[in-house]
Amino acid sequence: MTNNGFTTTIIHSDRRSSVEHGAIHKPMHPSTQYAFADARELAAVFQGKPGFTYARQGTPTTSALEAKITQMEDGAGTVTFASGMAALAATFFTLLKAGDHLISSQHIFGNTNSLLGTLAGLGVEVSFVDATDVNNVIDAYRPETRMVFTESLANPGTQVADLKAIGKWCKEKNLVYVIDNTLTTPWLCQGKAMGASLCVNSLSKHIGGHGNALGGAVTDTGLYDWSGYGNIAEPYRAGKPTSWGLTQIKKKGLRDMGGTLASEAAHRISAGAETLALRMESACANALALARFLSQHPKVAKVHYPGLPEHPQHERATQMFGGRYGALMGIELIDSVDLFEFLNRLRVLILATHLGDNRSLVLPMAHTIYYEMGPERRASMGISDNFLRASIGIEDTQDLIDDFVQALQ
Ligand SMILES: *Cc1c(COP(=O)(O)O)cnc(C)c1O
Repeated sequence: MTNNGFTTTIIHSDRRSSVEHGAIHKPMHPSTQYAFADARELAAVFQGKPGFTYARQGTPTTSALEAKITQMEDGAGTVTFASGMAALAATFFTLLKAGDHLISSQHIFGNTNSLLGTLAGLGVEVSFVDATDVNNVIDAYRPETRMVFTESLANPGTQVADLKAIGKWCKEKNLVYVIDNTLTTPWLCQGKAMGASLCVNSLSKHIGGHGNALGGAVTDTGLYDWSGYGNIAEPYRAGKPTSWGLTQIKKKGLRDMGGTLASEAAHRISAGAETLALRMESACANALALARFLSQHPKVAKVHYPGLPEHPQHERATQMFGGRYGALMGIELIDSVDLFEFLNRLRVLILATHLGDNRSLVLPMAHTIYYEMGPERRASMGISDNFLRASIGIEDTQDLIDDFVQALQ
């Protein structure tokens, strides 16, 4: 770790770890096996010494990206995965077992909601609570509670959980606290500052940023002492207790489950990550301007965006995210506007799933990601039929505003 700022650190990270031939990018390593001249060294790497054996457990290229994410999050270590969902699945499935209890925010990404349903089917009890108030989390506590999960900024409703207060309470109760930091990224919010034990990022979104690679990461902030966590298997109870959790996630999540990030994708994400701060600044500014404009538009019933003073957690977001509010917003059109007709008229914003891209993307929610869960659960998450999600990119601001104006006409 250096004393340099965020972007300097990321841009110079590969070079400073002595890449061969003075290369400034860590090369893509397509090799699946890594050979040893010394059998003792081979055994040592199998037994936990840092190194490479088989690419399912990582390559020098994924390792270089992991170093960057760790620096971004100011964490102790990171493991990358093939996607954000693979990172979340590895976290839940390797650290929880039947009979354990998980408290989750009810305002979460639809696919994460589905994943927690699978987890519940395997015997892990899951309670969904409104995590914008820590008291709801506290009320859900049981002796079997092992973990608390929330998104830093919720996809797609933009609710901001009581992140710091939850972190403080988890520390008192010695619970593993997992934050999905995808929508804020470590540029707006470091999980460690919120008291998180683990921080998950979908690298497919803002960190990669260019819509050309899938990836995910779990970062251990180093705050949690895993020696008191009963679910760590005996072989991983070695070395510093702050590293045990990540060792288990890596061994079971990569070695056993195999959701490994490919070197080519890691390389693309690494290059994309160099401009994370610049892109976030631009996308957040665009989103704020657009949210302000749309909140005054007669055909818009409601804009969900933490940068607007009427957002229920506006002040909390202002304090925690350094005066930036992310690039995602929920937009509810008035009933008399036909949502599909409106979407078909857009010319700059792209009708596509995904978020955190350089390009602005829109998606109707109730008919897509939230379709499977049914109207009741959608209502509890605040997803109405005329709700669309807009992920704002780095286009010229006026072009985005003009596109909404013509499509709403
Ligand atoms: C997209 C997303 C994920 C999943 O990431 P993938 O890389 O698409 O698998 C997880 N959490 C949040 C908040 C997301 O927006």
